Amino acid sequence: MINRRQENYHRLQVVLKWMLAVNLLLAGIALVLFIRNISLSRQVSELTAQLEADMPSFGKPTEGSSPEDQRTEAQTEAPTPGENESQSQATGADSTETSTEPEPTEPETTPPATEEAVDHEKRNFIVCLDAGHGGPGGKGAISTLDGRYESHDTLKLMLAVRDALQSYGDVTVVVTRDTDVEVDNGVRAQIANDANADVFVSFHRNSNVAGDRGGIEGWIHSSNPSDSREVGERILAAMEKVGVVHNYGVKSGTWDEPEANYKIIRLAEMPAVLLEVGYLNFQRDNDLFDRYYEEYAEAAAGAICGWLRDTVVR
Ligand SMILES: [Zn+2]
Repeated sequence: MINRRQENYHRLQVVLKWMLAVNLLLAGIALVLFIRNISLSRQVSELTAQLEADMPSFGKPTEGSSPEDQRTEAQTEAPTPGENESQSQATGADSTETSTEPEPTEPETTPPATEEAVDHEKRNFIVCLDAGHGGPGGKGAISTLDGRYESHDTLKLMLAVRDALQSYGDVTVVVTRDTDVEVDNGVRAQIANDANADVFVSFHRNSNVAGDRGGIEGWIHSSNPSDSREVGERILAAMEKVGVVHNYGVKSGTWDEPEANYKIIRLAEMPAVLLEVGYLNFQRDNDLFDRYYEEYAEAAAGAICGWLRDTVVR
């Protein structure tokens, strides 16, 4: 009897345990379903927010979250990187006319482009070259030895310097004349000023009546500006290496008046030097000029370019 009651009690215990297990299982399933339902509803609200961001007219009253929630979600979701990229690609591909959509993409592309542009342009120097005298009324000095005109020699040398400078790639050359024409000295300086040149170099040939003097020299403003002196000395030193009778160096003012200035030097608003490349009445200077004018030109161009790269920051 006792055994039978104990057996029944035991069976009841087993049934109760099973019922508890089934209840726990059902509760677990219910919990999983509940969590899935929450994530699904979140996905739905995210999707509606995205759709609203794409199309503002997309259904305002939706199930689930309130309109206020949707608006804040739409605002935070709109600038995600993936969405912007696909938008920019799409607008770039089909049309450029859509004025409202490309706005967010512009700040991303513009800064690197301008940095690159600045990098390329920052060392593009401007040199103004001047061939002294010119034209029927501006022959300059005339050689007592062979009748040559100063204006012809200066043009020949200046054109060779121009060609040599242009081969450097980072130099833009402006000239006051490239044919045998007369140009006012004020206009020559104005050409250099208008071009915003970094340096102004005027080529001349020297002369003295006695014909007993040979060599090269440079003239700068009477205030003796150091930058004009520096570029002038560099050019003369480079020409001296090619071969000259003598290098008299760079002087300020003019031959007879140290306080006066040659007009082009006075009016030029940048470092400026006037070069006298040998004496027309000195045979050795004429021989050197005719034989080495291209080497003088290359030397001058190299010196000018070197000075620009060392001292001028654009
Ligand atoms: Zn001259």
